[in-house]
Amino acid sequence: MAGKIPQSFVDEVRQKVNIIDVIGQYTELVKRGKQYNGSCPFHDDHHPSLFVDETKQVYNCFSCGRSGSVFHLLWKKRG
Ligand SMILES: [Zn+2]
Repeated sequence: MAGKIPQSFVDEVRQKVNIIDVIGQYTELVKRGKQYNGSCPFHDDHHPSLFVDETKQVYNCFSCGRSGSVFHLLWKKRG
């Protein structure tokens, strides 16, 4: 999948899209230290177990184990 997308496009999107903004559309994120923490939009999350690293532009859920970059998130959400 990732190999089909030109690196130039990936770089362009990375510069324009902040993963905090994208995930912030689905769940409320609270900044904790270097990371953002919020309820996971991928499963029925009762405790905020989703952590987002703004520097690396990746997310990681400790409950359901989903993780990845903003591209993975957009693909999953848009089907
Ligand atoms: Zn989750």
